[in-house]
Amino acid sequence: EATIEINGLRKSYGGTVAVDGLSFTVRPGQVTGFVGPNGAGKSTTIRLLLGLDRPDEGTALVGGKRYQDLRTPLCQVGALLDASALHPGRSARDHLLWQAHSNGLPGRRVDEVLELVGLATVAKRAAGGFSLGMRQRLGIAGALLGDPPVLIFDEPVNGLDPEGVIWIRNLLRRLGEQGRAVLVSSHLMGELEGSADHLLVIGRGRLIADTSVRELLAKA
Ligand code: ADP
Ligand code: ADP
Repeated sequence: EATIEINGLRKSYGGTVAVDGLSFTVRPGQVTGFVGPNGAGKSTTIRLLLGLDRPDEGTALVGGKRYQDLRTPLCQVGALLDASALHPGRSARDHLLWQAHSNGLPGRRVDEVLELVGLATVAKRAAGGFSLGMRQRLGIAGALLGDPPVLIFDEPVNGLDPEGVIWIRNLLRRLGEQGRAVLVSSHLMGELEGSADHLLVIGRGRLIADTSVRELLAKA
């Protein structure tokens, strides 16, 4: 099953404990918000999930495997990280074609994902002229190229205008409704309102809350 499973995860950098014994599960068909203040350990957790760093202890698995052990990673996990480097002179379509090509994916997926993220009409424009919201959507398009059942987005709405936030919120909801497991981080709880089905709240590397949004609202 396409879930994210974090178990007893720990990571320190020098004297700083970034992730301090995290355990949680992200299930298919749900958008799971990963919320906590800056420095709480969200990006570290995501980097460990994507095999970009090694845990000191514990495991971070996708579909029962470490990211490094996935055969066709882009078809199993799509990710949007903070620093998605763009080549300003290249079009949105060229970025995705290059990404598809270098991952052995068919080029036809490119037009499908451009449509999905609402960039089809500007696909031939240079990405250097894109707004932050459009760049985030281009990053999300890249994450969707392999049609993966698991998606991990690090701060996708950070710095977006209200319209951009609503756009991404609706997209997240659609991706969850399609049955994917979606993990989305934010340092602002309110940004995920209306899109998250489940909330993980993290502080100082530890889980403070792990709750369904429906249950949370029923108590409020
Ligand atoms: P968040 O994504 O929630 O803002 P991070 O995971 O980026 O939090 O950071 C958690 C803590 O770990 C912070 O104190 C941060 O300064 C520290 N940290 C993260 N990555 C590194 C690194 N590569 N080297 C040193 N410290 C780091
Ligand atoms: P550099 O470090 O020289 O900027 P990169 O490591 O970014 O180069 O890229 C290596 C090669 O792959 C270059 O030839 C570059 O043109 C191409 N490339 C990298 N990223 C992209 C992208 N997102 N879209 C199109 N081409 C890319």
